Amino acid sequence: MAEKSNVAVIGLGRFGSSIARSLYNIGHDVLAIDLDESKVHDIMGQVTHSVAGDGTNEGVLRELGVEAYDAAVVAIGSDIVASVMACVILQTIGISNVVARANNETHGNALHKLGVNRIVHTEKEMGNRVAHSLFTPEVEQYVGLTPDFGVNVIRVPIEWVEKPIKGLGLSGPRGKKSAVLALKRGKDVFLSPDTDEHLKSGDVIVVAGKDDHLSDILKNDTSNK
Ligand code: ATP
Repeated sequence: MAEKSNVAVIGLGRFGSSIARSLYNIGHDVLAIDLDESKVHDIMGQVTHSVAGDGTNEGVLRELGVEAYDAAVVAIGSDIVASVMACVILQTIGISNVVARANNETHGNALHKLGVNRIVHTEKEMGNRVAHSLFTPEVEQYVGLTPDFGVNVIRVPIEWVEKPIKGLGLSGPRGKKSAVLALKRGKDVFLSPDTDEHLKSGDVIVVAGKDDHLSDILKNDTSNK
């Protein structure tokens, strides 16, 4: 990890608690705050501190020392007023790196106008990810770069086992519609793997490519299961 930072996470629903745990696991100091004591209790031991409190109350945040934090994540989604208030207060007390979740376009626009550093459109991003894996279950994760191009983490289907990477139509000279960026085998990761490499059961590959191209290849290769 590059540097250890202090991060406050406000709102411990599925989204907030998952971010808080991940940040802590990466090695950051994480203060997790929620109005709901049961949420605070559930995350104990998985973050540095967890506290029941109102993230829209400046006094509470100051008392917790949040003004000295490097960054804050506002993970309140459904209560837009609370989300906006928390962002304003965090900026007021001097947090320069605020990341907030937006549940819809209007919410996102409001956060954008406030100058929130990063806005995560949870429903849109999740919808996009689920959509990409619905008919291609081998795609474990998807990150869209443009509306029709993305990076896919693919668990190698049985049909690809013992085949060379170059035989899959995924990799090739420049100008092709996709490229294999990495191969994970057990605990090892190989960047730009040799295209003569034969895939093994359990391998995971990272492929950047046109969405339709990749889904055609996966559907053709796995349709006879
Ligand atoms: P998810 O979709 O992430 O599972 P959710 O459906 O519970 O979350 P929200 O209603 O946005 O979504 O709530 C996220 C969390 O934020 C909840 O645990 C809620 O108790 C907490 N929360 C709401 N308002 C505040 C506040 N003012 N201060 C601290 N926490 C808050």
